[in-house]
Amino acid sequence: MLFDNSWQRELPGFYTPQAPAALKGGRLFYHNAPLAQTLGVDSALFSGEGHGVWHGAALLPGMEPLAQVYSGHQFGVWAGQLGDGRGILLGEQRLSEQSKVDWHLKGAGLTPYSRMGDGRAVIRSTVREFLASEALFHLGIPSTRALTIAISDEPVYRETPERGATLMRIAESHLRFGHFEHFFYSQQQDKVQQLADYALRHHWPHLVNEADKYLLWFTDIVERTARLIAQWQSVGFTHGVMNTDNMSLLGLTIDYGPYGFLDDYQPGFICNHSDYQGRYSFENQPMIGLWNLNRLAHALSGLLSVEQLKQALSRYEPELMREWGERMRAKLGFTQADSGDNALLVDLLSLMTQERSDYTLTFRLLSDTQQQEARSPLRDEFMDREAFDGWYQRYRTRLLQEGISDAERQQRMKTANPAVVLRNYLAQQAIEEAEKGESGALARLHQALQQPFSDETAAEYRQRPPDWGKTLEVSCSS
Ligand code: AMP
Ligand code: MG
Repeated sequence: MLFDNSWQRELPGFYTPQAPAALKGGRLFYHNAPLAQTLGVDSALFSGEGHGVWHGAALLPGMEPLAQVYSGHQFGVWAGQLGDGRGILLGEQRLSEQSKVDWHLKGAGLTPYSRMGDGRAVIRSTVREFLASEALFHLGIPSTRALTIAISDEPVYRETPERGATLMRIAESHLRFGHFEHFFYSQQQDKVQQLADYALRHHWPHLVNEADKYLLWFTDIVERTARLIAQWQSVGFTHGVMNTDNMSLLGLTIDYGPYGFLDDYQPGFICNHSDYQGRYSFENQPMIGLWNLNRLAHALSGLLSVEQLKQALSRYEPELMREWGERMRAKLGFTQADSGDNALLVDLLSLMTQERSDYTLTFRLLSDTQQQEARSPLRDEFMDREAFDGWYQRYRTRLLQEGISDAERQQRMKTANPAVVLRNYLAQQAIEEAEKGESGALARLHQALQQPFSDETAAEYRQRPPDWGKTLEVSCSS
């Protein structure tokens, strides 16, 4: 493994050198074997209690650790300087001439940007981030990845005492909207441009020699963000804390906190119990994505004219609607577009809202529809059978237009409608086991999340949550 440190070398003034602080009694708890293999990580690093790198006690050759500075808008308000308060960028692993990934240790101790925090993460939040980033990645949605979880006996105080843990997060980049806001609002325009040029060089190298490189670059950021959010909406994922410091420049899902996948279909679902206004509710995410892009546009106003910024931002809505339309059409089993598709979808979603239908199961069961048969396995799931029958009649008529066999369509629909998503209660079971030092539940759930579209996954992951599982409270303090 080769580690480079381009951020450290090329961007002085954008970070503070900072070594991780080891967790007392830290030890490797779980590792992501398929990802380790992709990265070519030596398996000896995972043996026994694991190498010290997993809990901040050691570095690998070539790593030069640092904490990045950034700022951001939190809950719609300018929050000033934030930065890596408990995460440390250890180094950038070079995978090939063109590609590299950050190794970022979350929960690695105090940094100059810790503010009131303790620089730590707990087992609960670490397991949640590990599982969710794997879940999204395997659903085909851009995300940071998770390589390892280390746990310890070090007490970390939240509402109650918990235990410290670390997560090794892997991502092409940790660049955030908030990085640009930081230098813009502190009136360091030269640094905004320096960072833009760094981003282009490392992550958009094909644009470096274009005359209107900044416009093409920002347009791509707008479109990636639009696609990401369309994809979240299509699988029922709610991020929960879409502050601009939690928005990846590369369009990755980043900083998993009080996220939630929908159980019941409720457009107004709020997963974050500290979000009293519902700013980051499920249905608000598309609008918030654009609001956040407007903050980034402002920060880039020294590089692009107002007309150029508006031109790029105008790509958001069409790109989001195109991606969402494509994903939702695939979920309904339509290969061609028809002018009536939107009404069919909207009517199904409003029926699901009325009935509080399970979002994932409803679409998965729809995949089992036989277009020749008047009865659908879904019918029994609805209390208002008459309303369902009316909708289903229209749906069957529309399917007939497709002219493909049931078997082929059902097969295709199953690649668009996951059987397994990371329901809160499933994560909770893995957490409770992890807190007892058992990694079996985590490993089994991780396995299931790697094959979300398979018919083979164990029935325990494919069910509605039990009543206790619907009311779990998750907030920011993790
Ligand atoms: P988040 O909304 O979780 O992404 O966190 C917002 C900011 O608070 C970031 O700058 C984090 O680094 C910082 N932060 C969160 N938790 C802690 C902690 N336990 N110790 C220090 N800083 C933290
Ligand atoms: Mg954050």
